[in-house]
Amino acid sequence: MKRELKKLTRDLAAWLAVQDENLLEPVERAGQVSFATNIESVEDLAAETEKNESIASAEKTLYQSYKERNMEPAKKMRLENLKEKVVSCRGCPLGAHRLNAVFGTGSANARIMFVGEGPGFQEDHQGEPFVGRSGQLLDRIMETVLGLNRPDVYIANIVKCHPMKNPENPEAHSNDRPPSADEISVCRHYLEEQIRIIQPLCLVPLGSVAAKFLLKTDTGISMLRGKIYDYEADIPGLDRKIKIIPTYHPAALLRNQNLKRDTWYDMKLVKSLLDSAT
Ligand code: SF4
Repeated sequence: MKRELKKLTRDLAAWLAVQDENLLEPVERAGQVSFATNIESVEDLAAETEKNESIASAEKTLYQSYKERNMEPAKKMRLENLKEKVVSCRGCPLGAHRLNAVFGTGSANARIMFVGEGPGFQEDHQGEPFVGRSGQLLDRIMETVLGLNRPDVYIANIVKCHPMKNPENPEAHSNDRPPSADEISVCRHYLEEQIRIIQPLCLVPLGSVAAKFLLKTDTGISMLRGKIYDYEADIPGLDRKIKIIPTYHPAALLRNQNLKRDTWYDMKLVKSLLDSAT
């Protein structure tokens, strides 16, 4: 407080010196102190400085959203190019038995990106992520807590093809399994590129496999959730850290209603992050 007062006093003295020399001109540009003639005290100067800072901050936000809008077509094109590679990929054994590669869906400018472990039966059949009962629950959570719909966010998985217990029978139900470490290591670069293109504000890994992958840890989801982490990968051109807020997989919520309260808490964390960045 004392330091701030000293600074303001110095600023006021500088302003008075300028005024004495009769060099006073109104300055309209944001980010600079506007020496309006009604400044008569340190308090006036502090208020004026605060006003100019808030104008500068509003301009920065406007510029950011203008920049993001302009970048959207380029991002879409990069995602489309990447999708073509995924659709023709046979990089690991999952590619031999899938019905459809499940690339990901949503806004190229999404601020929230949900990440699951891999497609299941329904996703393999429809080529879209989170389309079964789990997906419907995810939609409800997004709408209720975040006030967002599917086109507002981006949804993707670590591996893009359906990991099956019995790969010879993609039509069998209860045939899902988590992806193996080898499958993840071959496929991960697609998700990492999606993150580099979209540059979301926050990644929300759904379930243990996705949380462990993004946070590079062996700790389970029940210990990881409820906190905000930094995504540690380098994103060229990005001068902020992408945040990670892990939560339970919606399929786990369908099996165990007791997890709903924690999931709601995690989504509130996401919402507060969104609000604070607006
Ligand atoms: S899971 Fe990934 S690496 Fe394996 S075939 Fe599908 S897209 Fe290629």
